[in-house]
Amino acid sequence: MEITLSNLELERYDRQMLISGWKEEGQKKLKSAKVVVMGAGGLGCPASLYLAAAGVGKLIIIDKDKFELNNLNRQILGWQKDIGRFKSVAAAEKLKELNSYIEITPLILEIKEDNIHELIKNASVVVDAMDNWRTRFIINKACIEKEIPFVHAGIFGLYGQLTTIIPSKGPCLRCIIPKTPKEVATFPVLGATPAFFATLQVMETLKLIVGFEKTLTGRMLVFDGKYMDFLIINVEKRLECPICSIG
Ligand SMILES: [Zn+2]
Repeated sequence: MEITLSNLELERYDRQMLISGWKEEGQKKLKSAKVVVMGAGGLGCPASLYLAAAGVGKLIIIDKDKFELNNLNRQILGWQKDIGRFKSVAAAEKLKELNSYIEITPLILEIKEDNIHELIKNASVVVDAMDNWRTRFIINKACIEKEIPFVHAGIFGLYGQLTTIIPSKGPCLRCIIPKTPKEVATFPVLGATPAFFATLQVMETLKLIVGFEKTLTGRMLVFDGKYMDFLIINVEKRLECPICSIG
């Protein structure tokens, strides 16, 4: 089926279609794309907002938890009235009001090894908006197996990191982080930190779909807001990586 854009869609996305290399063709690619946002927390909320605003045709938002009062400094799709409600559902409700031209599916479930393949099926890009390493490595393994690109971000306080994993093109998350870091149940976060990284995740995601060549594949962006320091580190594939090495 050929994807077309209505006059209202052309008007809505007018400014981004002016970006060099985007045009109507790029917007049609976005409309036919499916993006899975893993987590509706500090990263997932702003990421979903900008993905929806940009016109990604199918958006899946996955989170098992309900909004709590101390989430509200950063999880901006959770408002006071949503405390006690499932995050993915409350988020999807608002996103539908923002953009009724796209399909938004909230899922209330825990991401596990036995459901991950079904969750990422036919995804154009997966957004890692998780807050724990165990789930991140489940996403990493499945995305490598299914050859689906994913955009990783992780934050702590005013610090954050970002990279884009394109299977067979660069290192996977396990190449970069061979030893699973210690999980911290409650860590400091300023809302602006995940907001900043989430919008960069969206930029990488949209570029991958529209077809921009240069992404953060093979590179890790590190930012420390405390000192306003940006750093780009080259990251390489490890030949002995148990996840992505061949044979
Ligand atoms: Zn690897």
